[in-house]
Amino acid sequence: MLLTLTCYAPNAPDIGYLLGKNPASVFERPFSGGKVWAFYPDVADDHVTVAMLTEIDPIGLVRGPAPLTQLGHYINDRPYVASSLTSVALNTAFGSALAGRATSHSERLSERMRWEVSVGVVACEAGEEFMTRLFAPLGYAVTTTRLPLDLRFSAWGQADLYALKLDGSQTVREVLSHLYVLLPVLDNSKHYYVGEEETAKLLAHGGVWLAAHPERELIAKRYLRYKRPLVQSTLERLAESDPALREAEAQAEESAAATEVAPEPVEATPGLHEQRLNTVMAAIRAVGAHSLVDLGCGEGRLLSLALTERSLTRILGMDVSPVALARAGRRLHVESMAPMQRARIQLTQGSLLYRDGRLRDFDVAALVEVIEHLDTSRLSAMERVVFQHARPQRVIVTTPNREYNVRWEAIGEQRLRHRDHRFEWTRAECQAWAERVAATYGYRWTWQGIGPEDAAVGAPSQMVIFDGNPGAGDANEGEGNEGDATAGKETLA
Ligand code: SAH
Repeated sequence: MLLTLTCYAPNAPDIGYLLGKNPASVFERPFSGGKVWAFYPDVADDHVTVAMLTEIDPIGLVRGPAPLTQLGHYINDRPYVASSLTSVALNTAFGSALAGRATSHSERLSERMRWEVSVGVVACEAGEEFMTRLFAPLGYAVTTTRLPLDLRFSAWGQADLYALKLDGSQTVREVLSHLYVLLPVLDNSKHYYVGEEETAKLLAHGGVWLAAHPERELIAKRYLRYKRPLVQSTLERLAESDPALREAEAQAEESAAATEVAPEPVEATPGLHEQRLNTVMAAIRAVGAHSLVDLGCGEGRLLSLALTERSLTRILGMDVSPVALARAGRRLHVESMAPMQRARIQLTQGSLLYRDGRLRDFDVAALVEVIEHLDTSRLSAMERVVFQHARPQRVIVTTPNREYNVRWEAIGEQRLRHRDHRFEWTRAECQAWAERVAATYGYRWTWQGIGPEDAAVGAPSQMVIFDGNPGAGDANEGEGNEGDATAGKETLA
């Protein structure tokens, strides 16, 4: 499947910064459905064309977690048409831009530029007029060309396949999010199970423009595969005020940060992470926990230690990043686990910024090197999700001690250890935070350093253990209109 986007704007090669892809090189990356390439066939001062090519592995899809039972098993149209796989590929290639972020030239993110989009083949049983109904209200001139079933046999007639061209003035994020949401809507089938996360994705990428779209109901229905409770809650949330949408958009930014494959943190103390994980495990063991939820479990290093702990009979790993979760699955060999072992552990995608009934009823929640990946403005949402709604008996948090950075030449005083860290705390800052959270939510706290202790700046890492009464939080919260936190239901915190 080939998708091209031509952008007309002054200093057009800057678009490369906004898309996070260098015009001089070819981007290539595998994703869950196959492989995606992004490259620039045409670069000039006043326009650039960026192309996204996907190669889908139809056999792999059949073997995947959600087999395409409704399509021919081994012969299907998936490799050739735009679909939900195209959206996954768009997110793989242009995740930051889709979330409205750029590492450079970010002042141009809000600039409306003229875009010509060409989608090689769209499968749309609802016809040409339907495509216009979706894209025209967003400000595009829409051109569709119906394609014959087979070029060599005109008698066979036409297919429900179209070449789609769009022409409109949009910001980078708008054009990408329109395609991300609407291509699967045209195609009207999904290659994976549609659950709660889809609502979050739809709100995150559709949010602002979808709320004003005359066909929002139809879009939500088709995007969410006619699952009535999901459609209903999406439409309600779209009708709600802007804060919910802003939160959803912010969540998309978080997840974009997390889906990019993050480099290893700069930690010049060998084995520090291992030591940190062992310290956390010792704390879990010390309280005789039977259940553990690892929030921001990443690639599953703590989970793999937890599995060796017999007394832990229920383990849940949650992360916002599907890439990290896939790695965790491989690290833990989830696919080939013996049934008894398999019954102990679950991996799930979710965000710490949303209340989530699945996080309730755990003895211990661990957040190992996670909070520093959240914007400080979002910390309070995380605090409510963890300490008020999930409310485990104990919460174990680790985070870097910024004071120690001066001991590492590679970092120095000013810089942080990882490019995705939004902050790093001194020991005093960490303790002040612990004190405030504990006082707000009715927990007690203890603090300790992790790693070699330096007389002046302390240890490189720090840990807080919160100890409280499970279940005491939600019952008497008085926040009114946030919706209920019934089991499994994801609600904005
Ligand atoms: N706990 C793991 C990974 C730490 S890296 C370990 O110690 O090895 C931070 C992790 O937090 C990443 O995997 C990232 O995807 C996850 N993360 C970032 N923002 C998140 C959010 N809002 N909700 C859940 N996980 C998040």
